[in-house]
Amino acid sequence: MTLDKKTLDELKSVLLGEKMELEKNLGRIAKPVDVKEGDYETSFETLGTDKDDNATEVDQYSQNLSVETSLEKKLQEIIEALSKMEKGTYGKCENCGKDIPLERLQANPSARVCLDC
Ligand SMILES: [Zn+2]
Repeated sequence: MTLDKKTLDELKSVLLGEKMELEKNLGRIAKPVDVKEGDYETSFETLGTDKDDNATEVDQYSQNLSVETSLEKKLQEIIEALSKMEKGTYGKCENCGKDIPLERLQANPSARVCLDC
């Protein structure tokens, strides 16, 4: 199966939209690390030096950290999918090399493996 250009463009714009949304959400709780696109570091907000402030900071930080990790994972998948589009390897299962069905890609454009895998 070869995806036609129109379908690819549609999937690409979905991916780009998701990417923007994720970057916006990540930007609220983390700052980008320069080294690699899509790499973020959770910001540690300093509220104050009181014991209570410190506890709140740590709570907030661990909450942000887990959110950040899942957003970042998703963002990496999207960047990976976009780079596959560039290379022309998009839509192939990373595990068995078969084509990923179009319906699956439309439901989840950053899917990396087919349903069987
Ligand atoms: Zn597969």
